[in-house]
Amino acid sequence: MIEVAIKGKSFGDVQVLGDVRFALHAGETLAILGPSGVGKSTLLRIVAGIDSAYSGHVQAPARRAMVFQDPTLLPWRSALDNLRIVHPDLSEAAAQAMLAKVGLGDRAGAFPGQLSLGQQRRLSLARAFAGRPELLIMDEPFVSLDAATAEEMLSLTETLIGESRPATVFVTHAPGEAARLADRVMHLGGNPAVLSAAPACDRPVSGAGSAPNGGRHGRA
Ligand code: ADP
Ligand code: MG
Repeated sequence: MIEVAIKGKSFGDVQVLGDVRFALHAGETLAILGPSGVGKSTLLRIVAGIDSAYSGHVQAPARRAMVFQDPTLLPWRSALDNLRIVHPDLSEAAAQAMLAKVGLGDRAGAFPGQLSLGQQRRLSLARAFAGRPELLIMDEPFVSLDAATAEEMLSLTETLIGESRPATVFVTHAPGEAARLADRVMHLGGNPAVLSAAPACDRPVSGAGSAPNGGRHGRA
């Protein structure tokens, strides 16, 4: 069970987040929609434990993984090493298997600069899932990809979430992505920003998911 109870977050004199509260059960996926600049990344960094300069508290499992908007890979390390440096306990075979799972089985030795943006994103997804996170946090993971690549990433993410069922919170601009991946959609808006239920048109409709298993992954 993950519990987020932020009372406020400011940068200097500017308060970006107001009262932001939500709870997430194991295996549940929450999507957060909201306009650019509203504070979505700020919220995710707090949930991820990267930013501790806020008032309130976050209760979350230690095994968290974050997928950033930029793939944030180490450019001077191979794809395989990008996984193993972050997860020193991961055997070479397990890292190789994880690469294969995201379609990079034959690119283990490639450096990030030799991979397309779509492949870099898949590598960053592999890095996140390689740690078997209990809480997965994703910041606009499908943004600025062409439609076909975004679709590929979306189904891959759906499959990986379906397999290991972490609690997931992710930010997107696209209501369609939210509806497809999430059990629950919320909207971050206002100044300072607060969370509210997403308008009905953005809410997932029961059974509307197109997951291969015929539904969403895992309300426990
Ligand atoms: P979003 O992800 O919703 O686009 P962000 O969380 O990145 O928005 O930013 C929210 C607001 O906080 C913006 O006005 C941004 O300029 C400001 N902000 C973000 N990070 C910092 C920082 N490190 N220092 C000062 N202001 C920041
Ligand atoms: Mg952002």
